Amino acid sequence: MVSRAQKHIGEFELIRWIRDQVRDSESLAGIGDDCSVQRLDPNTELLTSTDLLIEDIHFKRAWTSMFDLGRKSVAVNLSDIAAMGGTPKTLYLGIGRSKQLGSDELKDFLKGFLAEAACHKVILAGGDTCASPGPLMISVTVQGSVAVGKSIFRHGARSGDSIYVSGTLGDSALALQMLQAGRTPPTAVARRFHTPTARVELGRYLGLGEVPVHAMLDVSDGLLADLGHVLTASGTGAELELKALPLSDDFRRVLMDRPELIDLALAGGEDYELLLTSSRPDLTEVPALRGAITKIGTITARPGITIRQADGSDYRCRRAGFDHFAE
Ligand code: ADP
Ligand code: MG
Repeated sequence: MVSRAQKHIGEFELIRWIRDQVRDSESLAGIGDDCSVQRLDPNTELLTSTDLLIEDIHFKRAWTSMFDLGRKSVAVNLSDIAAMGGTPKTLYLGIGRSKQLGSDELKDFLKGFLAEAACHKVILAGGDTCASPGPLMISVTVQGSVAVGKSIFRHGARSGDSIYVSGTLGDSALALQMLQAGRTPPTAVARRFHTPTARVELGRYLGLGEVPVHAMLDVSDGLLADLGHVLTASGTGAELELKALPLSDDFRRVLMDRPELIDLALAGGEDYELLLTSSRPDLTEVPALRGAITKIGTITARPGITIRQADGSDYRCRRAGFDHFAE
């Protein structure tokens, strides 16, 4: 417990503090991006990322099946490899098993985990299992590879770049909001929350370097928060077009009655879409990318994020991005 006299440190402030205690070496770019990047040989870089899922923080047993939870725990990790432009290869799984979790449920989790891994030709290569006196805890580490020099970091955005995002935004956060209100989300919306799709093929394509991508990450904390990470790392700002945000049909239908829920697309989180910047303003016309990404704005030299509405006025989002230690 944090005493009153102690200043409460935010998630990102803590990560910054940890990062300041360790040093990158010539062959390792460590803390601060979606993955660490380690040179293995003159041609290959090893990508590694780890994610923790804790019962009642990241998932509720009442809302999701163990099979879907297994799938999701893989997808959210593959998403970080995709966000670097790499190809995922191996997974490691740590399980802190709660007393309430039966053997069949644990096996269902593993079936989901392995099914999602198989979809992307990724193998489970090890892990650790122990009992948890409290909630179920799942720790997944993924490793992948990328050609040397092809990793796409958060810090490369340049003024004048176009900003693109894959898929649609806000569905996952909408599903969560409906579940919290005791309502049943539309099937497609619920699917985005329970079994998000990591953009593995898209990430791999972008890592080939056939089109210029200056910066990339996956949207897990919400568009504004994650774009904020790119801008901070790159020393730039951004202008977004509110009308350009890619939204699903279900999400648009909900907006007709409750337009303020657009904030879920801006700051909801758990989208697991790729956000990227490029000097090319026409990436949506590239055959390999057609239909996969939408242009949503421009990188500016002026810091901060401006969100433009159709009439030219500025929009102010009322939601904050997700911070695990926020009070
Ligand atoms: P993502 O949302 O892409 O999973 P995070 O916001 O969780 O990324 O983490 C940002 C960066 O901080 C990553 O490079 C991650 O490895 C690093 N990081 C987060 N927590 C810790 C920790 N406890 N110790 C060391 N590095 C950490
Ligand atoms: Mg990430």
